[in-house]
Amino acid sequence: MKSTVFWTEEFPRPADLSTSELPETIDVAIIGSGYTGLNAAIALRKAGASVAVLEQATIGWGASSRNGGMALTGLKEEMPVVFKRYGAEMGRAFWQWSLDSVAHVEQTVAAEGIACEFARTGHVTLAFKPSHYARFAEEVRWFHEMLAYDDLWVMDKSELRSEIGADVYHGGLGDRNSAALHPARYVFGLAQAATRHGALLVEHAVVKRIAQARLGFLVATSKGILNAREVLVATNGYTTNVVAPLRQGIFPVGSYIITTAPLSVSLQQELSRAGACFSTARTSSITSASRPMAGCCLADATISPPRST
Ligand SMILES: Cc1cc2nc3c(=O)[nH]c(=O)nc-3n(C[C@H](O)[C@H](O)[C@H](O)COP(=O)(O)OP(=O)(O)OC[C@H]3O[C@@H](n4cnc5c(N)ncnc54)[C@H](O)[C@@H]3O)c2cc1C
Repeated sequence: MKSTVFWTEEFPRPADLSTSELPETIDVAIIGSGYTGLNAAIALRKAGASVAVLEQATIGWGASSRNGGMALTGLKEEMPVVFKRYGAEMGRAFWQWSLDSVAHVEQTVAAEGIACEFARTGHVTLAFKPSHYARFAEEVRWFHEMLAYDDLWVMDKSELRSEIGADVYHGGLGDRNSAALHPARYVFGLAQAATRHGALLVEHAVVKRIAQARLGFLVATSKGILNAREVLVATNGYTTNVVAPLRQGIFPVGSYIITTAPLSVSLQQELSRAGACFSTARTSSITSASRPMAGCCLADATISPPRST
């Protein structure tokens, strides 16, 4: 058994990725070189700002090169719960942003020519218990009535066999608009696009402190000090106390991708002809997904933090 990152082993950081020394001044300093930092770098360059992306490790080192590669519609929380918590107007906005985010990835990949295997493969929620299956029809109705969204459909056990090649589930809820991609190819493709647009990528630059200055900020890094008019913090779960208020609410969560040995093409076809993403509708915090891609099948397990008693 190996415990290394599958995606970057298969597609390592391109050797010809153009990186820079730390500049002295810049319009916008972006801390973190994942999807957030790199997409922001491209947008800011298009708007005419000079941009330096500061990464403490190597470009794309964080979650963006080590995730499940599923670009799904919706939020982690179920939409009826989002509606209850934030109201119908915000709920609709959240839903639309989730659709827009998948479309944004699709458009960026096409516009920048990023070969990351992006495809609208669809996603199927699998009923682990009969009671999960019983809820699916109601969910389809809810999405139609509350969001005018008609791209969900229910599969019974017999229909599901042709989707996932297994009889263990009690049915499925399909979504046509979800997509899948190769995470490392996407993040390195974004990095190359950002440099083409003129962003500077600075690796091994740990940001240690940000101080307000007369015309913006002084950003103290392990490579020296940078004067920036604006700072964008895109550090995700790796956020430290550099901006103390952002550290609040961040707690450790174990999240893992497990890959099988390469699968034969015929087994891939049996598991999913479309290469769809799957997750179970279990109410516990363990989710699983499988998707034949590059001869492999993925499983992603998310484990909640321990609750204090
Ligand atoms: C196992 C796993 C599976 C996942 N599966 C999915 C999935 O299937 N679909 C999905 O949509 N999402 C998934 N996610 C979530 C997704 O990967 C993240 O939401 C996304 O990559 C976040 O991108 P980001 O740019 O915000 O952060 P990251 O890619 O994590 O980048 C943050 C970067 O900031 C850098 N950094 C931090 N502090 C500093 C500092 N002080 N100085 C300089 N640099 C710093 C880090 O080194 C890091 O490279 C998964 C995540 C994990 C861990």
